[in-house]
Amino acid sequence: MTNHEQIVADELSRQFGYGAANHIAPIDGADHDVAVIGGGQSGVTIAYGLRRAGVTNVTVIDAAADESKLAWQTRARMRTLRTPKAISGPELGNPALTFRSWYDGVHGANAFDAIRLIPTSDWIEYLAWFRRQVGIEVRRGVRMTDIEPVGEGRLRLHLAAHGKTWTEDARKVVLATGVSGTGAPHVPDVLSGLPRHLARHTADDIDFGALQGKSVAVLGAAASAYDAAATALEAGAADVHVYTRRPELVVAPVGGVRPNPLVQDVFHLQGDEQRWAQRWQHAARGANVPPESVERVAVFPNYHLHVAAEWAAVSEHDGRVVVDAADGTRSFDFVIAGTGYQQDPATRPELVAIAPLVARWSDVHSPAPGFESELLGSAPYLGSGYELTERDPGTAPWLRDIHVFSIGASVSFGLPVGDIPSLRTGVPRLVEAITRDLVLADLRRTDQVAAGIRR
Ligand SMILES: Cc1cc2nc3c(=O)[nH]c(=O)nc-3n(C[C@H](O)[C@H](O)[C@H](O)COP(=O)(O)OP(=O)(O)OC[C@H]3O[C@@H](n4cnc5c(N)ncnc54)[C@H](O)[C@@H]3O)c2cc1C
Repeated sequence: MTNHEQIVADELSRQFGYGAANHIAPIDGADHDVAVIGGGQSGVTIAYGLRRAGVTNVTVIDAAADESKLAWQTRARMRTLRTPKAISGPELGNPALTFRSWYDGVHGANAFDAIRLIPTSDWIEYLAWFRRQVGIEVRRGVRMTDIEPVGEGRLRLHLAAHGKTWTEDARKVVLATGVSGTGAPHVPDVLSGLPRHLARHTADDIDFGALQGKSVAVLGAAASAYDAAATALEAGAADVHVYTRRPELVVAPVGGVRPNPLVQDVFHLQGDEQRWAQRWQHAARGANVPPESVERVAVFPNYHLHVAAEWAAVSEHDGRVVVDAADGTRSFDFVIAGTGYQQDPATRPELVAIAPLVARWSDVHSPAPGFESELLGSAPYLGSGYELTERDPGTAPWLRDIHVFSIGASVSFGLPVGDIPSLRTGVPRLVEAITRDLVLADLRRTDQVAAGIRR
């Protein structure tokens, strides 16, 4: 143990009494008080927050076989984080657990001051270190495939790993499932007919090595699209064409756009009308691309940008992809869709069964004409503790025991939930909601037992 790690251990035990007590009484039939689905930075931070609050019977599972399959190691193909380096993250107020203290510990005193942005590779190492320091075990390679209520305040999780299936019961479930969240990658209809060997989404595993010498089209000009374009160029693609339907590339200002964090903290307390209007405007502005991502591709003479170039049709011809765009027709060896994600629970395999019961934004809010959005409307409509709500009140009250801490919560909470800036207040808010519900349910049960004894 290094000196720094000793300080972390001391602070955790002295300041927070970390992990020392479980304040939730066991109940019959529940394997876990809380099951966290997803062992990325969100799932681990949530388990840490719960343990600090005295809720220790928590399991964290992750479908990915090992830590190298997490988003930062796979889909996040940029060299540096977009999030400003000094932003508060998973440490939840513990100075010894910050990225800064880890970075200075590894790279030397004040090394943090010398970097402008956090290198992605360092963030990955820091997260692994953080998880070890807070002692959160993730059961890797375990996928939740279904979820159902079994009464008495319990949810049954259907799990699968290594060809085996089984069930476990939990009182609370947190879906910390990342950018695909409660939905899936958004693939525009125009691409739906292409075979997988010719087209992938940025969310997919892409064999960039196989793109050497190939002509590649990237649909979309936001951050993930540019990171994929850069990776293809660096892998030796013959040329990469980035397409956007916008009249010009929307580049973020240097240092990024920093929304007021205090405004973000209260986003969910506004009315539906205001929340919808703000999310609609945000979506209409479109995602921007950081200057670093543009600079990364701009050094390549074989990078081409097509603006005002919406794709009207795409077809396969002689093993190539023919793209009929607003600025002309071209053919490519491979197409990458950098077209974001949608959050409709009906498209998420483990939520399909419960999706008809879940309220989505389109079920509770009718936007003014001109402000409709299928993408926003299909996202779940969450309560103030990130809990699912019922489409028809009274039909599935147990939905309140399923909490969403992922991009699926973004229409309700205003910022990309799961991203680093969402952890500082989001995780404590979620932890408070979960502990409150568990303790109140236990008190109600105790009252019922006492009433039974009195009778
Ligand atoms: C190109 C790109 C750039 C980004 N840049 C930034 C940035 O600068 N700053 C920032 O804050 N964020 C950024 N992000 C978002 C980043 O992915 C998240 O901040 C971070 O990974 C979120 O962590 P998470 O734990 O919420 O989700 P993830 O790390 O995605 O973890 C979710 C986990 O859930 C698991 N899972 C899903 N479904 C199931 C299931 N049914 N059963 C079991 N396990 C399941 C998955 O296997 C996965 O490991 C970026 C993302 C991309 C794609």
